[in-house]
Amino acid sequence: MAETKDAVTVVNDFWQSRWDTYFTGTYEPPTVFGEYVAGTPDAPTCGGRPAVPNNAFYCPSGDYIAWDAQLMREGYAKGDSMVYLVIAHEWGHAVQHRVTGLTAEAPELQADCLAGATLFGSEELQFETGDTEELAQTLTDLADRTPWTESEDHGDAEERITAFNNGGSGGVDACLPR
Ligand SMILES: [Zn+2]
Repeated sequence: MAETKDAVTVVNDFWQSRWDTYFTGTYEPPTVFGEYVAGTPDAPTCGGRPAVPNNAFYCPSGDYIAWDAQLMREGYAKGDSMVYLVIAHEWGHAVQHRVTGLTAEAPELQADCLAGATLFGSEELQFETGDTEELAQTLTDLADRTPWTESEDHGDAEERITAFNNGGSGGVDACLPR
């Protein structure tokens, strides 16, 4: 993706500018812990649980977003869309945490939907040829092998791509519980 700002700024700018359209109250961004190396003293804990390798997550109790340095490096090597997708997805969890009654039955798929709404809705991103395929590939790589059944499940590749595209075409409204 061609961008002038990094993914955190792009995602934050989107929610900052759109918050009033969808939600009440003042928009407060989550803290961005940034990258960690699992198993090192500097790696964050969330609710007493240490951050694990190969993961990116939003921590509700600490209201922060963090990602494994290696995971992002490897993803970036395949295409920068992955970094945008992961950050937009975790930011979606922060939005779920902020808005009472927002969280849908399948929170992981809703986060994918919100990520789609963010990346396609951002005025700061220009999609390049191949980006859509890259995003679909990333969702496939990060998907579970099984469909969504429990709140921690991400859903299978098809479900994740469908949720992401719903947000992309329908915007934030398409991700809200009805
Ligand atoms: Zn998630």
